[in-house]
Amino acid sequence: MDFALNEEQQAIFDMARDFGQEKIAPFAREWEAQGTIPKELWPQVGELGFGGLYVSEDHGGAGLSRLDATLVFEALSMACPSVAAFLSIHNMCAKMIDSFASDELRERVLTRAIPMETVLSYCLTEPGSGSDAAALKTRAERTNEGYRLNGTKAFISGGGYSDAYVVMVRTGDAGAKGVSTVYVEDGTEGLSFGGLEDKMGWRSQPTRQVQFDNCDISAANLVGEEGKGFTYAMAGLDGGRLNISACSLGAAQAAMDATLAYMGERKAFGQSIDQFQALQFRLADMEIELQAARTFLRQAAWKLDTGAPDATKFCAMAKKFVTEAGSRIVNQCLQLHGGYGYLADYGIEKLVRDLRVHEILEGTNEIMRLITARHMLAAR
Ligand SMILES: Cc1cc2nc3c(=O)[nH]c(=O)nc-3n(C[C@H](O)[C@H](O)[C@H](O)COP(=O)(O)OP(=O)(O)OC[C@H]3O[C@@H](n4cnc5c(N)ncnc54)[C@H](O)[C@@H]3O)c2cc1C
Repeated sequence: MDFALNEEQQAIFDMARDFGQEKIAPFAREWEAQGTIPKELWPQVGELGFGGLYVSEDHGGAGLSRLDATLVFEALSMACPSVAAFLSIHNMCAKMIDSFASDELRERVLTRAIPMETVLSYCLTEPGSGSDAAALKTRAERTNEGYRLNGTKAFISGGGYSDAYVVMVRTGDAGAKGVSTVYVEDGTEGLSFGGLEDKMGWRSQPTRQVQFDNCDISAANLVGEEGKGFTYAMAGLDGGRLNISACSLGAAQAAMDATLAYMGERKAFGQSIDQFQALQFRLADMEIELQAARTFLRQAAWKLDTGAPDATKFCAMAKKFVTEAGSRIVNQCLQLHGGYGYLADYGIEKLVRDLRVHEILEGTNEIMRLITARHMLAAR
């Protein structure tokens, strides 16, 4: 058992952290105020190989393990979890295309998606179905040329911003087996978007409903086989949960670093506040939680990489633990900054807002407990 990062892993982490500090951190607040991430950022991210992190090398990707990919998200989130999480969604879509699409579709999509000349969004949730995703209603009817889509997707990160959408639709009967996955390019007739959602965090990422009104797509845009779409959608989620956890972890680490520095400078009652033992104990508790979260996350990633039979359970447990630990830590960091923590200039309040949603998406943390308990009961 080896808990250390190897040289290559450390280099991946350092590269992502340095890129984030130079190209993302100085602008994160501005992008949040503008409600968008400049499209010009993405080809620079693509140049580092981050546009197809775990797309196989044969298909032009970086071919990284899931553990290595968490290092990228942890490091980038030290600059901005909203930008890092958006990259995670793009990668989830790219991996679905890599794993399941026909050779023609894979080539057509990934040639531009890996260098991030195009960015991809993932459309599963609908106004009437979130946790119960298999109840989705967006319909894809067969036509002579392909499919005609009708329905609405809700909460889509990158809705109205991305270049293409990987969409879960109903081609068959009710339930998971009636779901297929299709690829819809921006500009397709019948594709439109709702208004920009006004949200608590992740404000630099545009979130909108994605609507299909008699939206015709070619049969070549079916990903894989009809009726397997739900399996494809779920296949990406174990890794997606690791990524979102890594985003919480990196942000929590950044908040801790800032808090440690602040506590050495801030004076109260004639001494720096890091001299109060009550606060030292709080720091210690935060560090213990942070390190436990990092170890648990990397263990879950290792389970997924090695195909362990309990990988799904570990990804769910890690997602629940790490995202809640991350939220608690950034909230405590805000508290330790006193009133200044509440001011945007200090960078902590944004992290509190950004991390909250990690407990809700990629499966809510209630659903993570559900998955964990189901595995426990099944293994009795
Ligand atoms: C900012 C943001 C970005 C998002 N981006 C995307 C995206 O890009 N693509 C996409 O497809 N979706 C996206 N989502 C949607 C997200 O995945 C869903 O919001 C999430 O899955 C929860 O679904 P819901 O909101 O419908 O809540 P519901 O499923 O209605 O849940 C409501 C509450 O009930 C609980 N609950 C539900 N079922 C159970 C159960 N069986 N047992 C116990 N508790 C249960 C939930 O945990 C929750 O607390 C995004 C959401 C947000 C907020």
